Amino acid sequence: MRAKTFIPAAHVLVFARMNAPAYIGRFAPTPSGYLHFGSLVAALASYLDARAVGGRWLLRMEDLDPPREVPGAQDAILKTLESYGFEWDGALVRQSARHAEYQALVERLFNQGLAYACTCSRKQLDGYQGIYPGLCRDAGHATQNAAIRLRVPELSYHFSDRVQGEYRQHLGREVGDFVIRRRDGFYAYQLAVVLDDAWQGITDVVRGADLLDSTPRQLYLQELLGLPQPRYLHVPLIIQPDGHKLGKSYRSPPLPADQAAPLLVRALRALGQTVPQPLDGARPSELLAWAIGHWDATLIPRRPSLAEAQLR
Ligand code: GLU
Ligand code: ZN
Repeated sequence: MRAKTFIPAAHVLVFARMNAPAYIGRFAPTPSGYLHFGSLVAALASYLDARAVGGRWLLRMEDLDPPREVPGAQDAILKTLESYGFEWDGALVRQSARHAEYQALVERLFNQGLAYACTCSRKQLDGYQGIYPGLCRDAGHATQNAAIRLRVPELSYHFSDRVQGEYRQHLGREVGDFVIRRRDGFYAYQLAVVLDDAWQGITDVVRGADLLDSTPRQLYLQELLGLPQPRYLHVPLIIQPDGHKLGKSYRSPPLPADQAAPLLVRALRALGQTVPQPLDGARPSELLAWAIGHWDATLIPRRPSLAEAQLR
């Protein structure tokens, strides 16, 4: 399953190797909304998984999409994390500060013929179920006013998720050549997440299961760029009693600061951890300290769980 290998910028490799302690995790929220209960569950899982082994836990703001950013969401996310007792290591990284790195990578992929410009309109792509049919593959379009797509190999990529088990996807048949820079000039999540996870030395990606089907694209990019592959743990999504999944597209108000402790307890239960009754009145920091000491990732359920009550 080796595809053509691309030689990464030397600084990326050196950084990835120098910076290789046992465990570095991260939480990477997108400020297109506030944190909701589902993001709390993901943040908590990644935090506990890192801290339980004395690992580092980094925070990265994935502010790649200014048109969809909700004003004030970045601040609100940081405040919520603080009031819920999370402590991150080092300075917050913002993806909006890394455009030069993304641009350099897109240019190199394009110049090497590994990526190409696509001028397809949304309408032209109607009826392909989101699988890009390769219309512009050999068109030789210029990059202005065009999206840039990465060519994918006709191969299956698979990995073993710590909770979800074996996951496999055929990139050619199930995804198609995917966008790494949008037509409006903004960079795609897939590109930025792979570059930044490697740059920050992330060893373990713990995140929501809505991103399970993005992982094979990320594995391909890692392979292409010669970057190390992190371990993966995808936590189950939370389903509202009304059937809504708590995910990116679901708008919800900020998590209430005065409910931190009870919501942390609910998040722990959603992760399969058994919280003893006496902790019900504990402060967020006490709860987290207890949870770090008792974290057992093997108890995380594989299936989506129902929130006990409508959360909004
Ligand atoms: N920024 C992504 C989100 O909020 C998460 C990215 C990741 O954890 O890989 O859904
Ligand atoms: Zn096209």
